[in-house]
Amino acid sequence: MNLPAGSKVSPRRNVELSKYCTMRIGGPADYFAEPRTEDELSDCLHFASEENLPVFILGKGSNVVFSDAGFRGLVITLIHFHDQDIRFNLDLHEVTVSAGVHLYRLATACREAGLSGCEFLSGIPGTLGGAVMMNAGFSRFSGQKNEISDLVKEVSVLDESGARRRLGRDDLHFAYRHSNLRGKVILEATLKLWRRPQEIIEEEIRANFDYRNREQDLKHPSSGSIFKNPPAPHPSAGRLIDQLGLKGTRVGGMMISPKHGNYFINAAQATCADLVTLIANIQKAVKDGYGIDLEPEVRIIA
Ligand SMILES: Cc1cc2nc3c(=O)[nH]c(=O)nc-3n(C[C@H](O)[C@H](O)[C@H](O)COP(=O)(O)OP(=O)(O)OC[C@H]3O[C@@H](n4cnc5c(N)ncnc54)[C@H](O)[C@@H]3O)c2cc1C
Repeated sequence: MNLPAGSKVSPRRNVELSKYCTMRIGGPADYFAEPRTEDELSDCLHFASEENLPVFILGKGSNVVFSDAGFRGLVITLIHFHDQDIRFNLDLHEVTVSAGVHLYRLATACREAGLSGCEFLSGIPGTLGGAVMMNAGFSRFSGQKNEISDLVKEVSVLDESGARRRLGRDDLHFAYRHSNLRGKVILEATLKLWRRPQEIIEEEIRANFDYRNREQDLKHPSSGSIFKNPPAPHPSAGRLIDQLGLKGTRVGGMMISPKHGNYFINAAQATCADLVTLIANIQKAVKDGYGIDLEPEVRIIA
């Protein structure tokens, strides 16, 4: 293994990826690393390039599932990448956040600083990097759309050649659960927020959690919504699945949550093959029933 001399991070061999994805499925990664700083991250990328290994960047694994065969390359998780952590510029109402920071921690830090904007992120179980890549969003009010792209002012990345770059609004393109950052490693992002009393921010965070606990299946391993919602005026993916009476449908250990039609849960030692089959079955049923093509939101890495 060719890590630069003095490197503090050393990739591990044959690491079970199911432990690092919230759906709790997926085989082993040939190599797995958990860098904490930019230097350690660069060492990992250097190692992969020397060994000619494909690289996959993982956050909290809340929107990713790996195949049962695992990943033949280096998986780098940024859950410990808190290099510069959370820095506020209170005069400008801005916060700069490292990629590995958990969204709940970001939302509560903003509350403490009296800055509003991140409340809708508080119940999404991912990292800042994953949220920016996926353009994560949530609202408890139908027809309203809160997405992290509403807040992003600037993103720092390592680009495809390994160079550090700062991308401003003109370089960034976001759409529904999509950004133009694929292929890049997100290091940190600066978000533009606004002032609000702490109690109001707290109330909003609490209301979001209450809604999510009531409406979503948070008790079982899942990846959140499996499908993107089809564009308006179609009903949500969850409602389409519900209307077809498909909640509770099961393939092997993978089941559609009896509580929420767009949550597929790992009910009993499910495999990625179970998930792929269940997704295909539901896509066919919704196409046959409504003529609508459901597109997966979860990323399945085969
Ligand atoms: C119970 C539950 C509820 C959820 N609710 C919501 C919701 O309300 N709204 C919503 O939008 N999503 C939701 N999700 C999905 C998921 O939490 C979000 O997409 C989240 O933003 C993913 O963050 P992550 O750190 O887990 O990213 P991962 O799942 O690890 O990765 C997602 C993608 O981002 C890439 N990536 C991650 N970090 C980086 C980085 N630093 N640089 C480059 N690429 C990176 C990965 O390669 C992958 O392509 C939910 C998931 C669960 C399990």
